[in-house]
Amino acid sequence: MSICFFEGAFRPTKECALPVTDLAITRGVGVFDTLRSFGGKPFALEEHMKRLEESALRAGIAIGDVVDNIRQAIADGLKRSDCPNGGNCAVKSYITGGDTNDLGMFPNPRYFIVIDSANPPLDEEYRAGIALLPTAETRPYPTIKSINYLIGIMQCAGRPDVRECLYCPGGEITETLASSFFAHIGGTLFTAPLGTVLGGVTRGFVIDLARAYGFKVVELAPKLADLADADEAFITGTLKDVLPVVRVGDTVIGSGKPGPVSARLLRLLREYRERRLTSQP
Ligand SMILES: *Cc1c(COP(=O)(O)O)cnc(C)c1O
Repeated sequence: MSICFFEGAFRPTKECALPVTDLAITRGVGVFDTLRSFGGKPFALEEHMKRLEESALRAGIAIGDVVDNIRQAIADGLKRSDCPNGGNCAVKSYITGGDTNDLGMFPNPRYFIVIDSANPPLDEEYRAGIALLPTAETRPYPTIKSINYLIGIMQCAGRPDVRECLYCPGGEITETLASSFFAHIGGTLFTAPLGTVLGGVTRGFVIDLARAYGFKVVELAPKLADLADADEAFITGTLKDVLPVVRVGDTVIGSGKPGPVSARLLRLLREYRERRLTSQP
């Protein structure tokens, strides 16, 4: 059962309700984070809490001790959750604008956490790879993990054949609706630099692992026009890990099937996670 932490207590998620006056509802002001737990242990908790804090500060939300409270509530919540395998959950933490807009600063935020079983992509999506649809739009305030996904959702409306939209302002590929993007071109992995995209926690792990295992990684936005020369592409995210991309718009990537680079990085990421979880009390 999905549980929610709101106003100091856990309850079934359907009993959590934000006041209709909250700026998250009336103006789309809010930030969030999704992390996963395995066997009840949160993975990369500190990396996720740091990013949540940065997102809130960049959005003008005064956090006070909110992030400390969220950290504590996640620990309590994972003990109460009934996710499968002793606690394989998705933990979503939200900080909203609250009721007060003080010239673009939000001094009285609200926060809530939803803990539910994780819904990673299907095995079939890893086996066959996925398709993305390029759009010339830019994700506003790219360093903030905002709750407002309207642009990216609208650009892919009515397209069941694509998993997500891919932001490509001026033909330069930044990221997707909710994932970081990588292309493997001429033996080098390219991904857009920080500042132009969200600092994906998985993005950071994949870059570090790739470099440690001998891949050349360049933080430079790959161009849409260069995808014809890519032998592989993939997206990364907390629930997706490393998910192969085999088509972007009309461009087929490489052989049109997932390749060895994404398979290797997926394995390295999962091994890294196992090592960290095992050494975690
Ligand atoms: C959440 C998200 C990501 C992925 O971040 P992770 O920390 O790896 O889950 C990338 N880009 C955007 C726009 C996102 O919202």
